[in-house]
Amino acid sequence: MRSSGPVLKCETSVVWFPAIQNPLSLQQQDTARRSLVRVQAFPGSSCMEFPCSPVHVWVFFRFSSFLSQSINMLRLTGDSKLSVGVNMSVIVLNCLDRHVHTCPDRVALMWERDEKGSEVRYTYRELLEMTCRVGNLLRRHGVKKGDCVTIYMPTCPLAVASMLACARIGAAHNVVFAGFSAEALAERIRDAQSSTVITVNQGIRGGKILELKKTVDTAVQSCPTVQQVFVAMRTDSPVAMTARDIAMEEVRQQRANQNLNKTQTQEDVVCEPAAMNSEDTLFLLYTSGSTGKPKGLVHTQAGYLLYAALTHRYVFNYHDGDVFGCVADIGWITGHSYGVYGPLANGGTTVLFESTPVYPDPGRYWDMVERLQINQFYGAPTAIRLLLKFGDEWVNKYDRSSLKTLGSVGEPINTEAWEWYYRVVGEERCPVVDTWWQTETGGICIAPRPSDPDAEIVPGMAMRPFFGIKPALMDTEGKVISGNDASGALCLAQPWPGMARTIHNDHQRFMETYCQPYPGYFFTGDGAYRSVEGYYQITGRLDDVINVSGHRIGTAEIEDAVCPAVAESAVIGYSHDIKGQAVFAFVVLKKNVDVEEADLSRQLNGIVSEKIAKYACPDFIQFVQRLPKTRSGKIMRRVLRKVVELDLDSLGDLSTLDDPAAVQEIIQGHRELLSK
Ligand code: AMP
Repeated sequence: MRSSGPVLKCETSVVWFPAIQNPLSLQQQDTARRSLVRVQAFPGSSCMEFPCSPVHVWVFFRFSSFLSQSINMLRLTGDSKLSVGVNMSVIVLNCLDRHVHTCPDRVALMWERDEKGSEVRYTYRELLEMTCRVGNLLRRHGVKKGDCVTIYMPTCPLAVASMLACARIGAAHNVVFAGFSAEALAERIRDAQSSTVITVNQGIRGGKILELKKTVDTAVQSCPTVQQVFVAMRTDSPVAMTARDIAMEEVRQQRANQNLNKTQTQEDVVCEPAAMNSEDTLFLLYTSGSTGKPKGLVHTQAGYLLYAALTHRYVFNYHDGDVFGCVADIGWITGHSYGVYGPLANGGTTVLFESTPVYPDPGRYWDMVERLQINQFYGAPTAIRLLLKFGDEWVNKYDRSSLKTLGSVGEPINTEAWEWYYRVVGEERCPVVDTWWQTETGGICIAPRPSDPDAEIVPGMAMRPFFGIKPALMDTEGKVISGNDASGALCLAQPWPGMARTIHNDHQRFMETYCQPYPGYFFTGDGAYRSVEGYYQITGRLDDVINVSGHRIGTAEIEDAVCPAVAESAVIGYSHDIKGQAVFAFVVLKKNVDVEEADLSRQLNGIVSEKIAKYACPDFIQFVQRLPKTRSGKIMRRVLRKVVELDLDSLGDLSTLDDPAAVQEIIQGHRELLSK
């Protein structure tokens, strides 16, 4: 279908996504799964016979099949170019212009500001206008197709408009979580080679002021590529501006006492979109890996958007008119796919949550559900575990009858938290969907829905692969495990539209991390169990990555944040009843260091929060004389983990250690640490 929206001066042909309908019948779901497999077996076979929404399924098929060919090609040749025949221009228009054409006054964004009860609504028309203004502003300052813009902002409408504005003018966006330190931000700006940064004067979270502009000022000192920093006002406090800084006042909206909205502007509300190929980059998003250097995963235009839209519609059973409440920060992939792109591509109303689950009190989420009439609530197990400790009364105070589906993401959800979420929050009415996916997958890959409305949901299990997702479990020899009731390394056996295409500037690392461990498969880094019934349960990371409150952090990243007094360190993750996992650091000091351990612990925590972020700080630091190592010098983290888990009966064979006595010292030191 060719079209040009009413507010566009756009000559380019646009492929519009067809409206995605629900519900899918059981037979359609079944056919979707089988048909995708069939296409893989016979690339090029006709897909138009597919019974539901032929056009989007055609797109889906095209992507699945060309990607599988491309991945095969990648495997064989290491060639990073995934050139495609599908020409989809200005695909991101599907998030705005299409809906402005049909329902301009529908609410696109509900911004739940940190200040409770002061939410702000934006219609599709308003969001398009703000996006166009930002797009024109960026263009006027030289940002062009192919550039990469770093966005360091709290979750707010202007951040969404900035993301969409980048997409509109063909620049990639690189959103960096606004809790990251100046050094972590600088590393991401440098790696992305951004010359433009967008930020705010200050952020507010949980009533506390975050000095975001100052953090950017520090970061850009070590980023020679940065030429301009756009600064919007989230609070009324002025900040020092330099010659490099540009006030974003012109895209603010004047509504009494509401910051970050738009005002009279010199920028036009029409911004001609850049023509983009389906495989052009839409955004980079950095995530932690098992080395000290974060990876900038690259997501592309059409496949990502299609996958975000489909999974948003079907996993959460989203219907037109629903209010979708994803409480993730836009700095994470969940905020990208289910705070912004998925809901907007479906013409939905999406909530942007700026605050914390306990501000000003532990009823915040449910008060918001009542006020905004949220139909689907999507949150993290760490918050659920925290809230259940405050008791049911904080939930029961508020009317939650609008809720239809509850979602969980980021880490395994334990049975107690799942049951509470289902029983207390959802009043046993709402299916709880535990959704497994990752930055690399772009969208949800395993979740209990879509399935028959009455199909069983097993607490704490992601369960069923989404359309086109073909999980495989691998044994320790790299062979596919065929039976059920088995555990192994979780791989995906065929490509899917939302998959990341590469790591920015490091395709070799992409190949080594994901494609080479199990040739012919995409390795997720997670372990999984397949039950007798064939359902999947994620058991956790297999690599040196810790998941703290749903945020990934590489142990090597923390170890690399060394301080002058430290000779070497080993960081491990251990089970934590609220955060899921927490950080435990074993530290060997340099000889002749004469500092109080308590002071040094404070110093080390300060360094980690300065170099990475607060959430990466160790909960415990144990100072040791030496670390347990093999004779070849490899640190035996397995042994350290057992000590921390107090599982001393399973220390295993210590005979390969260079000096087994080191373990006894560590056990003794650990006892002393716990008794303090
Ligand atoms: P991120 O890329 O930061 O979203 O982190 C993705 C990682 O979080 C995955 O590789 C898993 O280890 C973990 N994860 C995400 N969702 C789930 C889930 N539903 N169950 C278990 N682990 C999950």
